[in-house]
Amino acid sequence: MEPTCIFCRIVEGRVPSTRVYEDELCVVIRDIRPQAPVHLLVLPRTHVQSLWELDDEALAGRLLSVASRVARSEGLDKGWRLIANTRDHGGQEVAHLHLHVLGGRSLGRMLPG
Ligand code: 5GP
Ligand code: ZN
Repeated sequence: MEPTCIFCRIVEGRVPSTRVYEDELCVVIRDIRPQAPVHLLVLPRTHVQSLWELDDEALAGRLLSVASRVARSEGLDKGWRLIANTRDHGGQEVAHLHLHVLGGRSLGRMLPG
């Protein structure tokens, strides 16, 4: 059956996206509504709802190291931010785990103090 999840469809190539990296576990695309000059999404190929449901250390490690790798290849040597909006209170809109990689401008401080 054809998946209804938009990110599953992107991973399968049924919905177009700009891919900047892929391997056997994950795919990295450019966000369609970028919030910074560089705004990438690191997606696992398998459908995992959010970080809450992630129960695979090998996949967790890969997602993190790929985020760092694409940040380097985008030239974000001045710094960048990793965000994983998780479930309702975390502001997650798409229920397929994704890590946001943001950079290319000063992002300011996120937490007070
Ligand atoms: P969330 O709020 O779930 O953490 O973020 C979802 C992100 O996915 C948003 O930044 C949104 O712009 C992005 N997004 C939603 N639909 C698509 C799409 O079809 N293609 C791409 N490239 N990004 C998408
Ligand atoms: Zn999915």
